[in-house]
Amino acid sequence: MSRFLSERFASLEAYVPGEQPQDRRYIKLNTNESPYPPSPEVLAAVSGEAERLNLYSDPEGKLLREKLAAFYGVTPENVMLGNGSDEILAFAFMAFCDSTRGAFFPDISYGFYPVYGALCGIPFTELPLREDLSLDPADYLGKKGMVVIANPNAPTGLALPLSGIERIVASDPDRVVLVDEAYVDFGAESAVPLTKKYENLLVCQTFSKSRSLAGARLGYAIASEALTEDLRKMKYSFNPYNINRMTLAAGCAALDSQDYYTENCKKIRRTREETAAALRELGFTLTESRANFLFARHPELGGEDFYLRLKARGVLVRHFGKARIRDYVRITVGTPEEMRVLTEQTRAILEEVRA
Ligand code: PMP
Repeated sequence: MSRFLSERFASLEAYVPGEQPQDRRYIKLNTNESPYPPSPEVLAAVSGEAERLNLYSDPEGKLLREKLAAFYGVTPENVMLGNGSDEILAFAFMAFCDSTRGAFFPDISYGFYPVYGALCGIPFTELPLREDLSLDPADYLGKKGMVVIANPNAPTGLALPLSGIERIVASDPDRVVLVDEAYVDFGAESAVPLTKKYENLLVCQTFSKSRSLAGARLGYAIASEALTEDLRKMKYSFNPYNINRMTLAAGCAALDSQDYYTENCKKIRRTREETAAALRELGFTLTESRANFLFARHPELGGEDFYLRLKARGVLVRHFGKARIRDYVRITVGTPEEMRVLTEQTRAILEEVRA
């Protein structure tokens, strides 16, 4: 910390993203990216747009918002774009929280929520998940402040049924409920249809996972016009051209080639179940993941030890040092071939440990 940093941020603990190593080639199963490339239509759209980079992008993202609205059965006014869904989350914390209205989210969830809370200087509470890492909607009733729920949750992969979400949203129309659906396309129920019924529901999704565009940075919120207007106010006070031209073009082309992505999601779900079965056979316990990753632990292998041994063997997964989940690793679902290597290396590690 330099002597120039504002005192407000002296104790801020910044988010630590998953490793993006450049030292060697790993089988990269640590940041929940898609193992499949963008569709050919996306590649063509991006290179076509490159020659117009001398011009600013459309700050309204009109065409992409129209396409998203048509896809989800809402109006373009219900859609707001972000530079990744991370930016939508940041705008929501800025817009809907203050010293009297803080935020509530689970103790085990996306590690960025407490960072945004700290960055905005608001009070926030991490409510403990149940022993089995599932979420009890009752814990979120009667709390004054924004509720943030990742569904499916990360890193557990567990999904809350829509009835649980609706119970939380309906219990207090005066507070915002943000449902972070970064992984919804891999097998959970989306709350988007409920946005027509509840003005206080903000659903956030991303092109990073199911649509293979993590590197393009594109996320979106779907909500009542009242909420998207507030988010727009944040965006126009921060960075009007938050989505670059090539990313806008990529997003439009991705929606035009949705069949390709739907097929990839099916493949990923199939690979997830096959890998889960193989790991169970090796003695692992896994959560019922509805996402593009597995959350696994083994009685003979500490989480960090497993992560380090896999890394030495060229397979990168994610380990979190947090108390309740220290024994686990999170494994992104890659191609069937990548998961075959993961399973083989895991079997070898278990033999090593037992020897
Ligand atoms: N929400 C959750 C639960 C995530 O795991 C991630 C990915 N790290 C994000 C949001 C942000 O994704 P992006 O900014 O790439 O859309």
